[in-house]
Amino acid sequence: MTASLCATGALACTLTGGMTGMPVRADDAVPETGCTTVMTWPVERPKVTSPFDEPEQRWLAGHRGVDLEAEAGTELTAPADGTVSFAGKVGGKSVVSLNHGNGMTSSFEPAATDLDVGASVLRGEPFARSDGKSDHCDDACVHWGVRRSKDDYLDPQRLVSKRRIALKPVE
Ligand SMILES: [Zn+2]
Repeated sequence: MTASLCATGALACTLTGGMTGMPVRADDAVPETGCTTVMTWPVERPKVTSPFDEPEQRWLAGHRGVDLEAEAGTELTAPADGTVSFAGKVGGKSVVSLNHGNGMTSSFEPAATDLDVGASVLRGEPFARSDGKSDHCDDACVHWGVRRSKDDYLDPQRLVSKRRIALKPVE
């Protein structure tokens, strides 16, 4: 799992940035290093209805993920290899979380799965469906959040973006 994330990041760098041969650590799988195609969209035709909005301070309100248009029952596919780490209710909403390794976790709501906690899923594999209502956009979307540690949320859009970030050496 860890190896696969790193390999993906390394491949993206090799193809576009010429970073061949550089050692790849777990941290290289996050966008700050320029490897941006770490994850794939969890829905077939992604349409962001509400983007990530990082709070200025971690305790302030913000939007710790993206909302993707999804009618009830929309199939969700794993953005990266992982294991189901949570499936159940949080504050009355149905949540499914995937642990991708490296401390990276994706959470989806409203979502439901028939898989058991601990089940392995591969990147691109269906693992859950949009199901129920949430306070993000009722039942018209699914909220996808990615965090690297307990309160360290990343912008999912940057993790799947094809944009070239920091591929040239810094002058
Ligand atoms: Zn949301």
